[in-house]
Amino acid sequence: MIVAKFGGSSLANAEQFKKVKQIISNNKDRNLIVVSALGKADDQPMKLTDQLIKLSEANSLADKRIVFQQIKNRFNELMSQLEINLDLDNEFNDLMNNLSYDELVSRGEYLTALVLARFLDVEMIDAKDFLMINQGIVDYHLSQNKLQQLIKKNQRYIIPGFYGINLNDQIELLPRGGGDTTGSIVANLVDANKYENWTDTNGLLMADPNLIKNPVSISNLSYQELQELSYLGTKVFNDEAIEPVKQKNIPLVILNTNHPEHLGTTISNQTKANLNNLRIKGMTCNQHQVVFRIYHYQLSKRYDLVIKMLSYLKNLNLDYTFEPASFDSINVYIKKTSNSIKIKNDLRQVIGFEKVEMEQNVSIVTVVSEQFKQQPTLVGSLIEALNDSDIKVKGLRQFSDDLKFSFEVEDKDYHLVFEKLYNNINKKVV
Ligand code: ASP
Repeated sequence: MIVAKFGGSSLANAEQFKKVKQIISNNKDRNLIVVSALGKADDQPMKLTDQLIKLSEANSLADKRIVFQQIKNRFNELMSQLEINLDLDNEFNDLMNNLSYDELVSRGEYLTALVLARFLDVEMIDAKDFLMINQGIVDYHLSQNKLQQLIKKNQRYIIPGFYGINLNDQIELLPRGGGDTTGSIVANLVDANKYENWTDTNGLLMADPNLIKNPVSISNLSYQELQELSYLGTKVFNDEAIEPVKQKNIPLVILNTNHPEHLGTTISNQTKANLNNLRIKGMTCNQHQVVFRIYHYQLSKRYDLVIKMLSYLKNLNLDYTFEPASFDSINVYIKKTSNSIKIKNDLRQVIGFEKVEMEQNVSIVTVVSEQFKQQPTLVGSLIEALNDSDIKVKGLRQFSDDLKFSFEVEDKDYHLVFEKLYNNINKKVV
């Protein structure tokens, strides 16, 4: 059995619905189809989820009516273009009633699922009837029992993503982008052979296409590599959605609804050599970082100071990372903030470190690959790629997980670093 999830861009308008229908009917094993709410397209400036959020935030009844009418028109137009007849009046009227925020926003995937189910002439299974989520924690056991009772063998069903039901019988949303997570959970619950995630790129690209012209797409990746890339900010796939399929070794395939013939990217625990022979799997960049380089005599033994520092950083409520740089020093990384001078002074005076240096406007370019383990020379090739350039490398970091290598450079240089790494490493190995 295949679980296939279609994102908002795959369901943005009638033209996309037709592509989705074709893809689904091309494989009889695509039985459980998970959907996001209607997305953005050239003729659709807003995601349905954002329209519903706008509806929930409207201050006056008049404003509410305007957004409500836009949503209703969008569906009526879609259904007329798809030539389907479906009476959604009650569902629309509910949008103007006092639904909870989560329930109102969840109606995006709910209505989208209803329309697709009618268009394909199959049944819909409502996520509220099986997906037990309580404050973000999924009850797999109970959800599995419930889902098993709802599905019949070899039948096809449409399932709305992004929400479930909590212990108080209230609809609970997953975080934004949660349709990927629903798909992955459903694949886990039914022990699917494959989880297909249909989106609008040819799988995962090795680098941001805004930085590198036509970057190659990565044919295969391990779960761990994908997790690293997602943590580091690659947006195609939601990082929370990896774990449920990883737990059961279900291959995840990221595919393009607009080019279904493209093989996309397969994520599994088998890291075969990449079809393109690429030794690096992805590159990401965190710009505008502030680095605090902290020194203290025998710092690695001074747990008291480290604990004090961590609780200070936690209270700042900023995202930060830190790591030991030597026996006597630690680096702390924070996204650019207007508070940086105060933080530097506090680290020195309140916490009591001997010396604190601060660097601003730093970009951290990270290369992800499982090949670091098998090919120790890879790091050398990366560093060599930046030779003979004016790029000032401020720091190099190899991580103990053997999956990543980072360069700290000035913000103004990150684009060039991307180009040099991408072009040189590819040239050498293809
Ligand atoms: N519709 C939701 C969002 O826009 C969930 C999803 O698309 O996965 O975040």
